[in-house]
Amino acid sequence: MIVIIGGSFAGVQAALEIRKRKPYKDIVIYEKKDHLGYVPNGINVFLKRQIDRLEDAIRFNEKDLKDNYIDVHLNTECTAINSWDKTVMIKEDGQEKIVSYDKLIIAIGSTQPQYLIEKEKKFVYQTKELNDARRTVEKLQDAESVAILGGGIIGIELAASLHVYNPKLKIIVLEKFDNLLEMAVDNEITERIIEKLNQKEIKFLTAIDFERVEETEEKIKIVTNQGEFETDMLIKAPNLEPNHQFLAQSIDLDIDGTGIVSPQFQASEDIYVLGDMLRLELLPIEERLYMSLVNNAVRSAIVAANHIAAKKELVFQSTKTNVFTICELTVARSGAQQRDERFSRYPIDKFSGVYHVYLEDNRRVPVYLIMFVYPHSKEVIGLQAIAEANISHLANLFSLVVRGKLRAEELAVHDFFFHADYPSDVMHCLNNIAADYLSK
Ligand SMILES: Cc1cc2nc3c(=O)[nH]c(=O)nc-3n(C[C@H](O)[C@H](O)[C@H](O)COP(=O)(O)OP(=O)(O)OC[C@H]3O[C@@H](n4cnc5c(N)ncnc54)[C@H](O)[C@@H]3O)c2cc1C
Repeated sequence: MIVIIGGSFAGVQAALEIRKRKPYKDIVIYEKKDHLGYVPNGINVFLKRQIDRLEDAIRFNEKDLKDNYIDVHLNTECTAINSWDKTVMIKEDGQEKIVSYDKLIIAIGSTQPQYLIEKEKKFVYQTKELNDARRTVEKLQDAESVAILGGGIIGIELAASLHVYNPKLKIIVLEKFDNLLEMAVDNEITERIIEKLNQKEIKFLTAIDFERVEETEEKIKIVTNQGEFETDMLIKAPNLEPNHQFLAQSIDLDIDGTGIVSPQFQASEDIYVLGDMLRLELLPIEERLYMSLVNNAVRSAIVAANHIAAKKELVFQSTKTNVFTICELTVARSGAQQRDERFSRYPIDKFSGVYHVYLEDNRRVPVYLIMFVYPHSKEVIGLQAIAEANISHLANLFSLVVRGKLRAEELAVHDFFFHADYPSDVMHCLNNIAADYLSK
């Protein structure tokens, strides 16, 4: 019996992958919510009116899994893991029961941290889970002002989506670091995003220290080192943290609450830990970092499933590839950046400029492109781009360059197609930036 705790991206992917290789193995998923795999970004997609209901952001349905003979128990919580006798405590319909496992997969993901301001407060909202997003959207119907706690990708993307939803909404983003998007992108990208936020009159403050929040009948007052802010609602958008609360006695945890695991994500012979419960190696700098991404979650599941079902030792290293949208801007990024120098064995060079890319619809648009390179080997270890167009396709290309450890000399002459009938330049923007870097 393979028991999977958590029915989101990592848990479901692991179940499906094991099923492909083990048609007769008993597989059961226990998920504490009443659905599987809600996309936490769903609120943004909803606010931008790309879906009609938040529920449309649910990615998996129970039936698809049951059709694959995967047993799914919703509204069912795992409350304890007893690794010594290979059992878990499961709470279902108000009853506790003991379930035995041969292999246990812990895919319980991440949460938005409760510290500083508890979710239970009347005017404090968050968005990762469907119920939280529903509550947030309901309040937005009559809100005139919103403060967002956290100026990383989650907070800034939310601010931009809120502006699309209601351009009259007064929005302020409060960030503890000195820069917005400090961990996510290079300053040159952030500057362009700030320009856009200013155009849209989305306000932000950095280097914020919270002191406390006070609620009245109507409003919430946020008291900080930079003054007091009164708004209709405060939406928490901090970085996620692993959901480690009940695990400490059953597996070894790192200081940040992530599982300590083997390259195949084994915490012990029979227990695997996946997804947002892990710190993963960022490929180019070979440093293990906490990078909560769906892409990482599903790939950790493939590795574990191959190990469990086929004894194959696949190795996953993340390139931290992602795309996000701020109003009309799209950012695509992959790999390391200069800020990662503190984790890197070598210094990191940066080279940037305006280049052009063709889009599917034949438009040729300017893109601000940044390339990060190890100067001693000229290996391209990261790429970032921002444009007033959908350049999301670049992210996967960037990821392949980083994964392939291409050197600038190789990238400058790398073979990309040209055909007059299709959107293409004779020289690709990646050829151009690498060639310019070499001739600088
Ligand atoms: C606002 C927001 C936007 C995001 N946007 C993106 C994006 O655009 N792209 C991207 O790649 N990533 C994005 N992420 C990150 C992404 O959502 C996570 O990396 C991903 O959800 C991790 O998947 P997971 O399966 O590891 O864990 P989770 O999705 O966190 O799922 C864990 C599951 O385990 C269940 N569970 C927890 N404890 C128990 C228990 N004791 N018993 C039973 N079940 C339990 C939970 O209910 C949950 O369903 C975003 C995150 C947020 C908050």
